Amino acid sequence: MARIVVAGAGATGASIAYHLALQGSGDRIVLCEREEVATGATGKAMGGVRQQFSTAPEVRLAKASVRFFEELGSPLFEQVGYLFLATTEAGVTDLGERLRSQQELGVPVERVDPSFVVGLRTDDVLDAVICREDGVADPAGVTRHLVMGARSMGVDLREFTDARELDADVMVIACGAGSPKLAAHYDVELPIRPLVRQLVDTGRVDGVPDDLPMTVEAETGFHFRGVDGALRLAMAEPTLRWSAKAEVDDELVADWRARLAHRYPAAADVEIRRRWAGLYDMTPDAHPIIGWVADGVYAACGFSGHGFMQAPAVGAAVAQEILTGSSELDLAPYRLDRFGGEVVFPETLVL
Ligand SMILES: Cc1cc2nc3c(=O)[nH]c(=O)nc-3n(C[C@H](O)[C@H](O)[C@H](O)COP(=O)(O)OP(=O)(O)OC[C@H]3O[C@@H](n4cnc5c(N)ncnc54)[C@H](O)[C@@H]3O)c2cc1C
Repeated sequence: MARIVVAGAGATGASIAYHLALQGSGDRIVLCEREEVATGATGKAMGGVRQQFSTAPEVRLAKASVRFFEELGSPLFEQVGYLFLATTEAGVTDLGERLRSQQELGVPVERVDPSFVVGLRTDDVLDAVICREDGVADPAGVTRHLVMGARSMGVDLREFTDARELDADVMVIACGAGSPKLAAHYDVELPIRPLVRQLVDTGRVDGVPDDLPMTVEAETGFHFRGVDGALRLAMAEPTLRWSAKAEVDDELVADWRARLAHRYPAAADVEIRRRWAGLYDMTPDAHPIIGWVADGVYAACGFSGHGFMQAPAVGAAVAQEILTGSSELDLAPYRLDRFGGEVVFPETLVL
């Protein structure tokens, strides 16, 4: 029987290995990781799980994944909702249009009075929407859970091993920002570029509710979630940092502190406990690349900053396609050949 090597034990690779095993082929799968499980983007992620996307293919992946997270439940997933706040007339119009298009795509988004969130400043908020099925998860914890499940079904985990050292009948490239390098080993060019993004954890803040939704300022993209009584902050950056050097920009940290003090006044003087940076694996259209890219080589990468929340659905569909030749979830929108000729990375991406 064919030996399948899944390269990369982030959320994507772990989910693929888990689903390959679940679909009956655990004893011929190697999950191969250059470092340790969940040390790439997965271990650095915010953990947001949302269905509120603007295109049908993204919504489909998110909807199929949220059921998995619901079954997982607390403490790995907290279904606290994703709350978007608009503070300008333009923001209100955008939020209204998005609400309609997402409802048409079947996402249960609704208008809400945001003052239900204890401690949140809402006197400048003109409109707000929430999807209560969305929430926040522990990306490294979920990934370790998947790896444990995969191993219990016979998958061979090899940490500190570069996939290029292993022979495979099928090589699955799930290496995040490292994917183009592994693909090049098979003479395949993947249009994926690393983009630096950072996160900040505060110390404990009095009164942060356990069910604080992921709260997003729609116009600026500034957002935060609760983590054990503290807050985790992130924001779409005004100038995109196209680089493989994952460094923290302290000016951004200072800016986010000021934004937090405004939106969540109880955190005005809170200390910053941790800051770190990681890499998004961006494609030109911010949608992933999923499918065969050469004989015996399958790619599942380029998740462009939202691969954790899509990993359950992607893992199930990829496993099915590799084992049976097709998948229930339509993977056609994600094929590599959609990028014909010259690929251009937009300099203004809404992330
Ligand atoms: C700051 C930040 C915040 C984010 N927030 C969110 C969020 O809120 N929600 C969300 O859904 N997503 C988020 N993401 C994106 C998310 O982390 C990833 O899309 C997701 O975790 C899937 O990652 P992955 O498994 O594809 O890649 P990774 O987690 O990067 O895993 C790839 C693995 O491959 C390994 N590898 C590389 N080359 C080789 C090789 N040759 N051989 C063997 N192993 C190799 C690496 O060591 C790495 O462990 C965020 C990312 C960052 C950086």
